[in-house]
Order: sequence, then structure tokens, then C-alpha cells
Amino acid sequence: MAKKIVAANWKMNLLKSEAIELYEQMARMIPDNDVQVAVFSPSIFLSELLGSKINRLAIGAQNFYFEDKGAFTGEVSAVQLQDLGCSHVIIGHSERRILFSESDELIQKKVKAALDIGLKVIYCCGESLEERESNSHQSKISSQLETLNCLASDMVRHLSIAYEPIWAIGTGLTASPQQAEEMHQFIREELAKLFSSELAENTSILYGGSCNEKNAKDLFQCPNIDGGLIGGASLNAETFSKIVDSF
Ligand code: PEP
Repeated sequence: MAKKIVAANWKMNLLKSEAIELYEQMARMIPDNDVQVAVFSPSIFLSELLGSKINRLAIGAQNFYFEDKGAFTGEVSAVQLQDLGCSHVIIGHSERRILFSESDELIQKKVKAALDIGLKVIYCCGESLEERESNSHQSKISSQLETLNCLASDMVRHLSIAYEPIWAIGTGLTASPQQAEEMHQFIREELAKLFSSELAENTSILYGGSCNEKNAKDLFQCPNIDGGLIGGASLNAETFSKIVDSF
């Protein structure tokens, strides 16, 4: 069975003192249940957070470059993140695909680089409003999942998928539980075709897109929704803890 996971994507928010305070509040408030919780902080705070790391809360990075080292000004590598103590990375978020022009080819290199060294990956996919309205949302997701076709089965065990319809991210619009479940089921079927039914069953598929403490319960009770990737609502420890408590 797939693990339940709730992940906080803080994006480019918070000052250092605020990040530390939020992390400490989360550590106090997060329920002690069987949900795996990960916090994706801006890279500049990772060292500080990892210094006071609480076992209940895994810490991950929102971005990195696929090469191990070298002349790549401004970048950090997966190896550096792992050396710091990070256990997780997000790859393929729509904000990186769109605002920073990350191609499928680059994303594939990142996925391989992270999984190769044992980092856990949350791989994001999702369609635009135009794609949904023109009924091409499933083919969009299929093509984004194709990027994973280079992975060996043993690597897929460290992979989770986040289905994040772009029209729902940061907009206050949420996919209905029916819309989300339909896509999650589709993603699981695609994973079974790419890898195996067993791997597909064991891969956590998270929903992301204006998920909050009010809609999380309805989403998380769907059979193929194994948790959430939470943006805005992860910037408040109380709200985020309620989401972790929503299974
Ligand atoms: C995200 O960007 O991963 C996200 C889900 O954001 P929000 O919850 O703010 O829509």
C-alpha cells in the first residue's frame, strides 16, 4: 500500500527567523499519526533547519541542478543537498516548468540524479486550464509521466507523484474530489503501464492545488489520493497540522 504523505512547499516565502519559528511550531503541533510529513524550505534555510531537525518532519529542497559539481554559478547539486542532510526534493513543479522554462529533458536528468543517490523525489505533473477545457488533460499527464520511463524499478520505490492542476495552484480553486480521484486513478494506471501494478499500488500519489484544512478530508478519503503537496496553507502551522490530521 502507498504511504500517506503530506508535504509543505514553502516556495520563496519567509525570513530566516520566521522559517525557524514555523518549523518549530509544526514540530509541536503535527499529530503523531502514520502520515509521513516533509517540509520543503527555501535552500538558504536548510542548514539551519537541519541543525534543529525533528525526526517527525523530514526536510527537503525545492530545487537543485542535476550535475554533481562544477561551474554552474548559483546552483546547488543533489549531492550537496544530501550531504547537508536533506532527504527529499521536489522536481517538475509547474512554477519551475513555466517560470524557469524547465524542459522534460532537464527534469528527467534531475529525477535520475536525485534517485541515483537515494534522495526521495516528489515528481509534479498537472495540466493547464486550457488543456482541461480542451479535454487533453490526460494526454498531458501521460506525456509528463513518460519522463519517468528511464527509471529502473528499484529507483521508483523512492518516487512519489504530485498531481497539481495548474489552474488550482494558488488560485483558491480546488479540483473536486471526483476530478482529483479520476486523475489519480489515471496516474496509477499509467504508472502500472510504465513499471508494474505492484509499483503503481505502492507509489504515493499526492494532490496539490489550493488544498487546505477545509477540503483536505474530502480529498484524502478518495481511494487513490495518498496525501497532499500543500503550498499556501503550509505557511501556518495550525492549518497545516489540521491537514496532516485529515485522513
Ligand atoms: C503548490 O504550489 O505546490 C501548491 C499546491 O500550492 P497551493 O497549495 O498554494 O495551491
